Amino acid sequence: MRLVFLGLAGAGKGTQALVLSETLGLPFISSGDMFRYHLSQNTELGLLAKGYMDKGELVPDEVTIRMILDRIGQEDCRKGFILDGFPRTLAQAQALDAALDSGPVNRVLYIKVGEEELVRRLAGRISCRKCGTPYQLDLLPPNASECPRCGGELYQRADDQPDVVRRRIQVQWPEIHGLANYYAGQKKLVEINGEQSVEQVGADLLKTVNGRI
Ligand SMILES: [Zn+2]
Repeated sequence: MRLVFLGLAGAGKGTQALVLSETLGLPFISSGDMFRYHLSQNTELGLLAKGYMDKGELVPDEVTIRMILDRIGQEDCRKGFILDGFPRTLAQAQALDAALDSGPVNRVLYIKVGEEELVRRLAGRISCRKCGTPYQLDLLPPNASECPRCGGELYQRADDQPDVVRRRIQVQWPEIHGLANYYAGQKKLVEINGEQSVEQVGADLLKTVNGRI
């Protein structure tokens, strides 16, 4: 079972991918984790990526592709895996297809959340400056100013401010749309309504991978 998660930042796909990986007993592979691992371990790929980042340049697709292919080539991925944050471009999707000679991606789970809902969610989110945990404002006690977990200061990340969120959606949208079309053409795309509760989205995902949708 090879699964790919697709969706805008803030759609909740990371959380859902992690839960599904535990339920299905499949390795969860996030491109963000992959980068952090290679950078912190100073691997060949990490040093290569760092070279670009130090110059203020984007890390080329090729480096990201090598990190992911290296990971899914490992023993624990033989029974399958769940990808989050990769592929992000059409070139990455094609490289993934070309590399998976033992069997292709089975399903692409597209968690759809509209722009207004994303803005509403992220604008209502504050984060801990110390441990980074995000919280929904309406779930915290009124006037909470400290992180319930570590006591750190709570603040709204610049990333979560409405105009920044809208700009980010505009940037991400063409690529996500392109990937959705690519996988729809392969008849692998499944759209999940991400505006439901976390539990309902999780239930829909399970039905999908069990072949009932
Ligand atoms: Zn904290």
